[in-house]
Amino acid sequence: MKSIKAKRTVQKMRKYDPPTSSRKGKLRMDFNENTSGCSPKVIEALREINMEDLSSYPEYSEIRKKLADYLNVDFSEIVLTNGADEAINVVMQTYLDKGDEIVMPTPTFVMFEVVASIIGAKVKQVLYNDDLSFPAEEVIKNIDENTKAVILVNPNNPTGTAIRNDDLIKIVEKASSNGVNAAVIIDEAYYQFYGKSAKNLIRRYGNIVILQTFSKAFGLAGLRIGCIISNKDCISEISKVLSPYSVNAAAVTAVKAALDDIDYVDRYILEVKQNREWLRKELGNMGIKTFPSDTNFIVADFGSICDLVSEELKQKGILVRKRTEYPKLKNCIRITIGTKKQCLQLVNEIKSIIKKAPTRSLVLPKVLLFDMDGVLADVSRSYRKAIKMTSEYFTGQEIKDKNIQEIKQEGGFNNDWVLTKELIKRKGKEVEFNKVKTKFQELYLGKNYDGLILNEKLVLSKNILKKLTGQYILGIVTGRPRDEAEFFLKNSGIKDLFSTAICKEDVGEKEKPDPLGLVIAMERIGMKEGVGSIRDAYYFGDAIDDMKTAVKAGLIPIGVIPPGIDSNDGKVLKTILINNGAKCVLEDINNIQEVLR
Ligand SMILES: *Cc1c(COP(=O)(O)O)cnc(C)c1O
Repeated sequence: MKSIKAKRTVQKMRKYDPPTSSRKGKLRMDFNENTSGCSPKVIEALREINMEDLSSYPEYSEIRKKLADYLNVDFSEIVLTNGADEAINVVMQTYLDKGDEIVMPTPTFVMFEVVASIIGAKVKQVLYNDDLSFPAEEVIKNIDENTKAVILVNPNNPTGTAIRNDDLIKIVEKASSNGVNAAVIIDEAYYQFYGKSAKNLIRRYGNIVILQTFSKAFGLAGLRIGCIISNKDCISEISKVLSPYSVNAAAVTAVKAALDDIDYVDRYILEVKQNREWLRKELGNMGIKTFPSDTNFIVADFGSICDLVSEELKQKGILVRKRTEYPKLKNCIRITIGTKKQCLQLVNEIKSIIKKAPTRSLVLPKVLLFDMDGVLADVSRSYRKAIKMTSEYFTGQEIKDKNIQEIKQEGGFNNDWVLTKELIKRKGKEVEFNKVKTKFQELYLGKNYDGLILNEKLVLSKNILKKLTGQYILGIVTGRPRDEAEFFLKNSGIKDLFSTAICKEDVGEKEKPDPLGLVIAMERIGMKEGVGSIRDAYYFGDAIDDMKTAVKAGLIPIGVIPPGIDSNDGKVLKTILINNGAKCVLEDINNIQEVLR
């Protein structure tokens, strides 16, 4: 017998084959379902289903109204679907023809690719950044007159990362700008964990179509129910493609009961978020790098023991999802967050697997901690200038860069207010500390962050930093007050690249050279001495006290010559840093790769 041939686009497809058996009874940390189940009220409501409910076609008006209320949109702006999977199919069938171009950040949820293949649409992939953050600029660059749809999974599966609202709006606007006419399809399957939705934009932009589901936070994956949210014209077009009774009566009953017990879901979401951060820290303790997540799962990089871990966990009845074949996720496993008890069980199993593993097989991520001033931030025209101007104000004498550098090189003056007071004293004047501090802050911060702080520039290039985040865990340990540190990090767009930032407030009186700041940083990153966890950690600083601090904390001290000091002073500083423990000294922090090799 010879079978008939499928249409050409289908013949060319590979089958997407998620498991449809053998998962029941196991600890399911592989498919991002709710691992503790739906509200008991849902089960009660399902028990009440009667014969008429089953013998008649399902009715939707009541549930649509209830759902619209929950989502705070109009009845006419939503439609129910058989899971988000059907929503993906229907929306893409509505807006895409064979040969049409789709811009798709990758890796992402596989069903978009599947439906694109069936339609015969062309997918332009844009890779996520190395730190798994959303590649906004690249996505925008790739949208042009040929683009018919942009796929945004927000937050994304499998990376766990979200799209910033301003980036999302830029994309929506580019997709509807002159000559461009593209649907922006936003999959919000993890909306409840992230808390932000594009649904309040559907009346402002005519090209947004949003998908949500009851499979994840609500714990109803088995009933297959989701929805589409868009403006009412789009909903009316999409409804033509949708089969009229695709959502069954039991699902309708269940969702009604679930929406009547939102508290239950809210509690679950809160618990998941806490457990997620706890699990990240525990894995960090074992030297396993994880990525930030706004969902109910995380991505963890197990290095060379990735296969071993996923196999052994399976033997123990714990299912996790290997994502090693995806770009950017080499050696990575996706883990669904469960209850505290479930997470604890997972952690204990992983600990015992690691103990048994050949020791050298675990590639521990290195930790790079940075001092801020003079290392990441060029402060020659901010802090240094504030020192100079404050001293000149009180002494009436000209202060040279050299005078400042000399005191810095003595050590012990990590706090610039203390240093300024000392400098004034050496010029023959005694001024009260608080007066010095007030004048200094007035010059440095200005009225509203419009003082010398605006002169600060990033020294270490953002591109280099971004590359480093993929391979290392990055952190900051600075003597700056938190708001001044955050201002710089945000202003230079590098805040998200650091796992932690320890500031003045975190250590109180115990400023450098007390090692407390470095110790807290290592703890926050989850890098305490853990299971088989001797690892390399570096501290980059430009002062004697930085080197002393690193030595005391057991980190590798690396000296950095700050920008803006003359070459003679630079030579002197280099010698001093070496004499105080620096393993080597970088004349330019941008050559950082040299010491890491
Ligand atoms: C789980 C998931 C879906 C599918 O949801 P269903 O409603 O169960 O079909 C869709 N998109 C993403 C991103 C998901 O993770």
